[in-house]
Amino acid sequence: MESHVPDLIKFLDASPVNFFAAEEITHRLDEAGYTRLDAAEKWDLTHGGRYYIVKNHSAVIAFELSAEAPDAGYKIISAHSDSPGFRIKPHGEINCENSIVKLNTEVYGGPILYTWFDRPLSLAGRVMLRSKNILRPETRLVRFRRPLLTIPHLAIHFNRGVNEGNPLSKQKDMLPVIAIVNGQLQRDNLLLNLLATELGVLTSDILDFDLSLYDTTPACLVGLNNEFITSGRLDDLSMAHAALTAILSAPADAKMNRIMAIFDNEETGSGTKQGAASPLLMNTLRRINECLGGNEQDYQQAIARSFMISADNGHALHPNYPEKQDPTNHPALGGGPVIKINANCKYMTDADSAAVFRSVCERAGVPVQYFVNHSDVAGGSTLGNILTSQIDLRGVDMGAAIWAMHSVRETGAAADVDYIIRAFTTFYSPFE
Ligand code: ZN
Repeated sequence: MESHVPDLIKFLDASPVNFFAAEEITHRLDEAGYTRLDAAEKWDLTHGGRYYIVKNHSAVIAFELSAEAPDAGYKIISAHSDSPGFRIKPHGEINCENSIVKLNTEVYGGPILYTWFDRPLSLAGRVMLRSKNILRPETRLVRFRRPLLTIPHLAIHFNRGVNEGNPLSKQKDMLPVIAIVNGQLQRDNLLLNLLATELGVLTSDILDFDLSLYDTTPACLVGLNNEFITSGRLDDLSMAHAALTAILSAPADAKMNRIMAIFDNEETGSGTKQGAASPLLMNTLRRINECLGGNEQDYQQAIARSFMISADNGHALHPNYPEKQDPTNHPALGGGPVIKINANCKYMTDADSAAVFRSVCERAGVPVQYFVNHSDVAGGSTLGNILTSQIDLRGVDMGAAIWAMHSVRETGAAADVDYIIRAFTTFYSPFE
């Protein structure tokens, strides 16, 4: 079987930030013949149809209606498009000694700050342009491919204790430099001028932007036998890629409909209209139900028959810190998908849903592992339980095990990429 790892590397490099991840996903859905729906227009859905919607340029819900009955139920895989990092603040230019310009940033989510030092960084995001309709400014995605910025670390000679622990200020230590300039003229509106030139518009047409830093170093394989993949944004673009690859390749299932839901803003708690805490998925399912001629009873039946895989990366046993993991449940890199369990229900997994996912993996011929927190360590949370506050779905929280979660470059195993795509494809395929 051909490996999906080279395709994942392409996907990661095409997706420096959430907006580009969403665009890459919709590009691939378009190529596969999916129809884009506009939430502001009336939907006309047909049996066997394949559709998707985009929310605020950063969340995508795709669905395939292969089952005729509205009460058939849904096979859902969810993941997220965002990653921790830095956003550019408005009026971002800061002049230093009238020669160096640095940019003012705000931290997004929980990045490991010092991994961002001394790297060839650049900017990507969306720019809002003036249009005739005040309520609908034009959106243009922008990505500078060449490195434009770096965050230079302080030399060790000014801080001899740097290797003994070095607390960092997000406002002082983490600002990237962009240019050496001479005097006022070149400094004012440096960023807006740069954007205007890149987009071929007037500076005065730019109304606002959502811009983030990204590391321009491409994803790659490392290891004696290329067994590791190292890249920015493995969390959670590797799971978004796996869900997308699976929904595009699994044979049609006449018994259940299929949904792929890629949300934004997981890293800040999902509390936006394009995040998992919003009614986005619930509203979409209700609307599909109505379009298929279903009533409330059908909708409730469909939900009761549905199952969700909430896919978000987990922690592999780190060879330098084995003591951080639970004594009996410590997933290995390359050991297959990881089922996440938490006694206090931070994950949606329970014995029932873990059993379903184990059976899927068994059928796919894929090994499966468990992650449970070391009892003295508070773990993270993810999409699953946030979604169940809107829809009372059965489901499992799982993911690929990685190292260095929220570093500017995370490390995973090439083998897990293919294991998880195989498991997802089996999940989306018809069950006997
Ligand atoms: Zn994540």
